Amino acid sequence: MADEPLHYGEDYHFIHATSAASGLGVSVLPDLYCHTIQIVNICLVGRPDDHAFVLVDAGMPGSADDIVSVVEDRFGSGSRPQAIVLTHGHFDHVGAIVELVKHWNVPVYAHPAELPYLTGKASYPEPDASVEGGFIAKISPFFPNEPIQLDNRVQPLPADGTVPHLPEFRWIHTPGHTPGHISLFRPRDAALIAGDAFVTVRQDSLYKVLTQQIEISGPPRYYTIDWRAARESVRKLAALFPSVAITGHGAPVAGKELREGLTKLARDFDRIATPDYGKYVH
Ligand SMILES: [Zn+2]
Ligand SMILES: [Zn+2]
Repeated sequence: MADEPLHYGEDYHFIHATSAASGLGVSVLPDLYCHTIQIVNICLVGRPDDHAFVLVDAGMPGSADDIVSVVEDRFGSGSRPQAIVLTHGHFDHVGAIVELVKHWNVPVYAHPAELPYLTGKASYPEPDASVEGGFIAKISPFFPNEPIQLDNRVQPLPADGTVPHLPEFRWIHTPGHTPGHISLFRPRDAALIAGDAFVTVRQDSLYKVLTQQIEISGPPRYYTIDWRAARESVRKLAALFPSVAITGHGAPVAGKELREGLTKLARDFDRIATPDYGKYVH
C-alpha cells in the first residue's frame, strides 16, 4: 500500500485559533486565489475556466475537507490540483497535506533543504516561547513540531528555479524563517507568493491576528531561526518590486501599500522585524 507510509508527527493536533478572515477567500488576480484557513492562507494558482491549477501550502490541522471544498467551489466538483507546492513545512502550512495527497494522489514539491522536515528525518528547532513577541509566542510550545512523513510523495523543486506545472513562475530561496523556505514569483506581472518570508499581519499581536489589521511585518518571530538570512530574504524579495503579494498570514497586499511597506521592512528590518531578545536572535 503506497499510502501507508504517509503520516503526521506524533504531536499533531487541532489548534484552536481563528481570525476575522477565517473561511474567506479573495481573488487577487483572475488566476490567483487566496483563502484563509483559521489564521493561515492557502493559495490556488490557475484560472477557474482552465482546469489546470496548483495548490500552494496545505493549511491547518484538520482542514482537509475545507480545502477540498474550496478547490471544488472554484474549479468544479471532482477537480484536483496538478501538484501541491510548499513554501515550507511548518504545521500551519502542511496541516492537511496527508489527507490531501491521499485524496488527490498528486505530487508535492518543496526545497531540498526542507525535505528532512517533511520526510520524518528532522524536527524544526523548538519554537521560541521566550522571544519578544507576546501571546502567540507564549503558546507556540503547544504547536505540533514533530516532522511529518511524506515519503517519496514529496519531491525536490527543480534546481533551475522552475516550478512544475507553473511555467510562468520561478521559485526563490528565501531562508531564515526555515532553512528551505521558498517564495514564488512571476516576472510577467510581478505577482509574489511570499509564504512566511514576510507577512502582512503581526503574529506577535493577538489583537492584530484576530482582526487581521494589515501591517507588512517580518516572519513570525517564535519560529524564525536565522534572522540574518531572514533579512537577506526580505531584501531579495523587495528588490523584485512585486506588484501584489499573498503571504502566509494576513490579507493580500498590492500597489503602493506593498511597495512602501516592503521597502521599509527591507531597509529597517533589524528595527521592525528582528526581536530584541530571544534564543535565535544572536
Ligand atoms: Zn512558518
Ligand atoms: Zn506560517
